[in-house]
Amino acid sequence: MLAATVQPCPWTTFSADSLTAILLENGLSAGNVAHILRSWYRNDGQLDEWARTRVGPRVVSFLETSITSVPSSISQRHISSDGTTKLLVNFTDASNFQPTGSIPQSAECVLMPAYRAGRAMACVSSQIGCAMGCEFCASTENGLARNLTASEIVEQFVHLQREARAQQRRITSLVFMGMGEPMHNLDSVITAIRCIADPDMGAVGWRQVTVSTVGIVPGIDALAAANLNVHLALSLHAADDDTRSTIVPMNRKYDINAILSAASRFYDRTGRIVTIEWCLIDGVNDNNTQADLLASLLARFNLLRRARVNVIPFNPIGPGRDARGLARRVLQRPPAPRVTAFIERLKLHGVVCHARDTRGDDVAAACGQLRRTVLRQVRS
Ligand code: SAH
Repeated sequence: MLAATVQPCPWTTFSADSLTAILLENGLSAGNVAHILRSWYRNDGQLDEWARTRVGPRVVSFLETSITSVPSSISQRHISSDGTTKLLVNFTDASNFQPTGSIPQSAECVLMPAYRAGRAMACVSSQIGCAMGCEFCASTENGLARNLTASEIVEQFVHLQREARAQQRRITSLVFMGMGEPMHNLDSVITAIRCIADPDMGAVGWRQVTVSTVGIVPGIDALAAANLNVHLALSLHAADDDTRSTIVPMNRKYDINAILSAASRFYDRTGRIVTIEWCLIDGVNDNNTQADLLASLLARFNLLRRARVNVIPFNPIGPGRDARGLARRVLQRPPAPRVTAFIERLKLHGVVCHARDTRGDDVAAACGQLRRTVLRQVRS
């Protein structure tokens, strides 16, 4: 008689490797791990008939006793007029509730319809809150609450996948541009990517995943070394250290030279074009001098043809306080002609450059608007 040697846990905790290991440990065949995972991702953690037949009754009964469904739930859903859907996912498992004081237990994730019919992009959080303190970003307002586990990251994807299915869409890309700094929770981010984007599972491929960072140099090198073949996005936002340190405090630790060298190494190692994110803020980083400086920096680091610049007109985050409790200065989006002029100036220098649109801003789901929402859980 076979006994499960594991505590039951959600199916989202398993990658191909860890599922193989647990099946072998329990004396079971691991030959059909890919079928199991594929079926789980397609059927919300259920084995379909085809997978059941392939894996056989012993494995099916083991999985039935060892694997539980996703414990998190959606506590809020906002749908923007442009179809962008923002979910607040609550990670407190009601059946296994542990009082956690005031530590928030929810994070936001977003589904954006792609321009091609039937497709969508998923944006997930890597942490609850954020410690980076970027002046223009709402996620940082209450500081960092905690890292998300790999399973909690996968769960966001699974909730977004359900949402996409209901909209007759398929998620074809995944970005780590929600709350948090992925490089400060890199092990969980990498584990989650291995789960979601395993080529055997037929969900999104590694090449459709983008990890965005404020510029944590060891993290960029570690991501390259992980050989996942994912995209890197670098939140640069300014082309001189004085300006960048004002809006991105982490620049005092990893300055522009250090992060662009890391971006260049990332390209050398992976061959993947690096995306440079530039949140365009009125009167801060939207002048021609910044555009000229950015172009010369990209040339200096041999990134002109190996990086593309994504210009994101600033999304208003309203008045508020920074991580130190000080009133934030009021930032504004530049007028549309300035956005166009900035992009044209970069193009003049041969920089590959696009303007990202600002979808979801009417439900605060656009870039930088994801704000930690404190949900106090009360045991009923
Ligand atoms: N910490 C990581 C991941 C967060 S991603 C990083 O810094 O990259 C958040 C993305 O949204 C980044 O590209 C960031 O630069 C952008 N962003 C943040 N606040 C914004 C705002 N108010 N308007 C437009 N873009 C913003």
